[in-house]
Amino acid sequence: DHLINQIAAGEVVERPASIVKELVENALDAGATRIVLDLEQGGLDRIRIRDNGCGIDADDLPRALSRHATSKILSMDDLQSVATLGFRGEALPSIASVSRLTLTSRTAETDHGARIDYKPDASAEQEPAAHPVGTTVDVNSLFYNVPARRKFMRTPKTEFTRCESIVKTLAMAQPDCAFTLNHNGKTVFECKAAADMEARNTRITRILGKGFGEAARAVSLEGAGLTMSGWIADPSFSRSQADMQYFYVNQRMVRDKVISHAVKQAYSDLIYHQRHPAFVLFLQMDPTMVDVNVHPGKQEVRFRESQLVHGFVRRSIKDFLAAITP
Ligand code: ADP
Ligand code: MG
Repeated sequence: DHLINQIAAGEVVERPASIVKELVENALDAGATRIVLDLEQGGLDRIRIRDNGCGIDADDLPRALSRHATSKILSMDDLQSVATLGFRGEALPSIASVSRLTLTSRTAETDHGARIDYKPDASAEQEPAAHPVGTTVDVNSLFYNVPARRKFMRTPKTEFTRCESIVKTLAMAQPDCAFTLNHNGKTVFECKAAADMEARNTRITRILGKGFGEAARAVSLEGAGLTMSGWIADPSFSRSQADMQYFYVNQRMVRDKVISHAVKQAYSDLIYHQRHPAFVLFLQMDPTMVDVNVHPGKQEVRFRESQLVHGFVRRSIKDFLAAITP
């Protein structure tokens, strides 16, 4: 299985940022309201993540490191309506197979924590360890055993920038969770849990900058069984970069052709020669209406009724833009 894990790692574990994404998603799936990340050398030397989620039972620790042993999908029906961010049960074993990984955890049901060190021969056993309720995953020496992969890594600075951007992208969609990101012992990004709309605004401004914060107009739209909320920058807000476009479906960041086409159309319907629209939008829909099981680690989704989604997004954004511009 170790070899299979390493092969799967090629798909799931491209670089430190993809590991950060998987581990933060696991913490969020565990109901964490506080996540602390400590990275060393862009994550290449170390990625440690601590959360205050539900924790893992000592007896279940070995299973968490074995392939397809997810606790989240019980049946084919579940697969049709994935509500958690992860569901394949391959992230932890894949990451473990290309690093030195330790998992320490405790549930609220016991006052003893337990830890396990991944072993390629699957001989790992859990042992008692002190830990507060929640989980710590400690990933060291990434790709130490896959030198070919290690060679593809950029500088620690570049790898860190990617990790930082993943954390911020996730943090925008998870206002109830506090995040701290430390790099080489220094705090680089920190945000408290955002209880109300004002705090959510503050978090978005903190992440996307004051310019966006000032130009942003809150959106809240409904129709066709779909709701869309978030912020769209006033079309007069001009920026040189094209990358201030965040679209989430059921709190999952997506890059989707149907969506980007609908957004583009909405702008061009109003003849805005807006080269770079800026927005953070959250589309909520019945999970059975969207297939997230397309590709591991990719931001693709497939809508069951893509025409409906396209129409809703295009119409809503267009009406919204028409209302906020003279
Ligand atoms: P998946 O997220 O697809 O279920 P993973 O390989 O990412 O698979 O994780 C395997 C299992 O380990 C999860 O299903 C979950 O039961 C457990 N797990 C992983 N990380 C955490 C965490 N931070 N807190 C609680 N449980 C966790
Ligand atoms: Mg997962």
